[in-house]
Amino acid sequence: MLPTTATAASAPPPPPAAGPASSPGEPHAALLLTLGYMRLRELLACARACRGLREAVAGDPLLWLRLVVEPPLSHRITDEALLALTDRAQGRLRSLHLLGCPRVSDAGLLRIVERNPDVTELFVPRCTGLTADGLVKIIHFLHGHKGNLSRVRLHGICKMTNHHLDVIKSLVCRGSQQQDAQALYYNHRVHEVLNTDDGRPIDVDVCPLCRNVRLVFDCTRKNCREVKDGRSQCRACFFCVARCETCGGCIDLEELGESGLACSDFLCMDCWLKLPKCCTCNRPYCERHSNLKENLSASGEFTCQECTAFATSLKSLGEGY
Ligand SMILES: [Zn+2]
Ligand SMILES: [Zn+2]
Ligand SMILES: [Zn+2]
Ligand SMILES: [Zn+2]
Ligand SMILES: [Zn+2]
Repeated sequence: MLPTTATAASAPPPPPAAGPASSPGEPHAALLLTLGYMRLRELLACARACRGLREAVAGDPLLWLRLVVEPPLSHRITDEALLALTDRAQGRLRSLHLLGCPRVSDAGLLRIVERNPDVTELFVPRCTGLTADGLVKIIHFLHGHKGNLSRVRLHGICKMTNHHLDVIKSLVCRGSQQQDAQALYYNHRVHEVLNTDDGRPIDVDVCPLCRNVRLVFDCTRKNCREVKDGRSQCRACFFCVARCETCGGCIDLEELGESGLACSDFLCMDCWLKLPKCCTCNRPYCERHSNLKENLSASGEFTCQECTAFATSLKSLGEGY
């Protein structure tokens, strides 16, 4: 049976058109082949199309060895629904990515790994229902049983301390000691997409400036990185050192004051200078928000949303008198 909480996000697609080779009521063989390439949401929607597909989806453990729960399903999935999905791997689950799933609890996740001790990848960024203590227990369990866990993603887990991180490092990094070798550069995707799916065993680190356990970014500027043993002084979390939205370089306070944007992002002066500006307030949009330009002319002149709204309100004020 499918958990309704996991399927409620999307309307079921129309029943697939049967090809000439398939008998009535049977899914086309080509459709069955595509199941392995579908995201969870598509797979669940597909399973509701007909009995044949439902059986094909639920009955093949190979489809369930890697499970990725991402928005918009993330907000709906509960412990029970997740357990029902992971049980389809029949104890062989290898990789579990829960991207921002607030309703998954320590007890629920522990139950899942107890039934699937072969898990090698556990990604739980911004799963706010999980705790640092609970995760240490879960990772301890995996370490004690098969010891195959090689990659975890933990950013956004509340109250994770240096001690928690030390324990997790000692349990996860066995056999993959290159944790310190790889740099992490800031880009908005790291922050927003939740999925820092690079080769590092653990995503978070202790910020050298505030000592909190967070994503810690290296500077993209070569001259910054050359300061002191290859570790720059601006290596820090996003809250300690502002980063340029475009190049990922650090931005100092003076630069921040001068390089104002029409959106709420930050740019370094070099990147700021290169962008076209609002013809009223002289602020640019970053590339990600360039679709917000108003009154865009053929020559590239534009006004920002704030200036347009201000002009409109002035105009209506004038008409009121
Ligand atoms: Zn910090
Ligand atoms: Zn820049
Ligand atoms: Zn720097
Ligand atoms: Zn403006
Ligand atoms: Zn922006």
